[in-house]
Amino acid sequence: MGALRSIRVRLTLLYVALLAVILAAFAIGVYFALREALYSNLDDSLDNRVALIQSIVAEDGEFDPAHIGLPGDPFEHEEFARVYDASGELVFDNTAGAPVPEDPADVQAALSGRTAERRERAGSVHLVIHTEPLRADNAIVGAVEIGLSDDDARDTLGVFILILAIAYAASVIVATGAGLLLATRALAPIDRLTGVARRITADDLSQRLNLDLPDDELGRLARTFDEMIARLDDAFRRQRQFTADASHELRTPLTVIKGQTEVALQRDRDVEGYKEVLRAVNSEVDRMIRLVSSLLTLARADARQIPIAREPVSLGEVIRDAADQIRPAAAAKTIAVSVRDAGDLRLSADQDLLLQLLLNLLDNAVKYTPSGGSVEVAWSRTGDHAEIRVSDTGPGIPPEDLPHIFDRFYRADTARSRAEGGVGLGLSISRWIAEAHGGAIRAESAPGHGAAFIVHLPLV
Ligand code: ADP
Repeated sequence: MGALRSIRVRLTLLYVALLAVILAAFAIGVYFALREALYSNLDDSLDNRVALIQSIVAEDGEFDPAHIGLPGDPFEHEEFARVYDASGELVFDNTAGAPVPEDPADVQAALSGRTAERRERAGSVHLVIHTEPLRADNAIVGAVEIGLSDDDARDTLGVFILILAIAYAASVIVATGAGLLLATRALAPIDRLTGVARRITADDLSQRLNLDLPDDELGRLARTFDEMIARLDDAFRRQRQFTADASHELRTPLTVIKGQTEVALQRDRDVEGYKEVLRAVNSEVDRMIRLVSSLLTLARADARQIPIAREPVSLGEVIRDAADQIRPAAAAKTIAVSVRDAGDLRLSADQDLLLQLLLNLLDNAVKYTPSGGSVEVAWSRTGDHAEIRVSDTGPGIPPEDLPHIFDRFYRADTARSRAEGGVGLGLSISRWIAEAHGGAIRAESAPGHGAAFIVHLPLV
């Protein structure tokens, strides 16, 4: 039963069974056609012989046994010819081999105008016997009975069956072998695929099938499998990187806190000294809180646990609100924050998340723009989207960093970001918020000419 679990064996069995049925139907058809042809030949011979005797009787115009000059020698294959007169009396018989019993019923049937056919065995000979009326001037004057041996037809059919049986068995054997071979060759890549797939584990996703297969079903399966492993590899690598980055980010403030407290404990200090240490510790704890809540947001976003409320939101209002919230920090750095009002646009969005997205962008703009610079928020309508643009007059983003700044923990300038209290997750969260609303976010920057963040959000 184990072999049946192999597609190779099942396919071959199915194929061979189908072939066996078709061949059998074909062989039976041919056998009966041949049999029909052979026996109709035999019937023709019988009819010819009857016709000959009939013509002799008709020529005489009457049935006179003394006058019918029947040829005594049997025809080819003819075992006997018997003639009966109108009273059913046997008047001629040239039986050559073993005697064949007479059949008065057939003779009576012939005398009453019907043709009778029967089969008999005489010794080792099989006979087909026709009994037919003999007519003269439209009157039945007697009956003729001819017996022909059908042994030739039997022999021919016997040889034919033998040939068919050998051909049938040979075809089935060859088909089984060829079917197994073909199925084995066709399915061999699956075994290779299974072997490699078994070696691939979560710890080692670097392996690929790399099977050089044609572009058929199996080739496509192998390539799809490789693509899937590549995606998994990428996802696992990012996961590991993320964990490493997150641990690193948490260790930095902890190291600072540890350093501060150790120094404070080394000797007694005055109140102001302790306060200074506590302020430093407090600021590091703040950074850790920001980091942990950002991590929590991303983790919940990944797990799709953050419900996105869809409510009518006035874009102008949210932007003005965000600008108002950022102004104190901007003012501390003498940075002007301006909002270029473009009338109201209504969105169906989660107001809190939208506000958080704008605050992230504005916070970055203020963080990275030097004192005396400016930050502007503008918006417009493009087709069925709202386009929000947050631009600043800061140092901009180097072109090589542009494609990565939305990655988690990616910073163009790590020291600078840290110094500004950044944790490297703000833009990742912003991108998630934009995409969760069916929108998108991108950055534009020419170094030295400031940076601009453009958010597209679908309108109601
Ligand atoms: P961070 O907490 O470091 O600001 P973000 O994810 O918000 O993290 O930003 C990623 C990086 O993108 C920043 O470290 C910074 O290098 C760069 N960046 C973001 N906004 C700006 C900006 N307005 N001007 C220049 N660089 C920026």
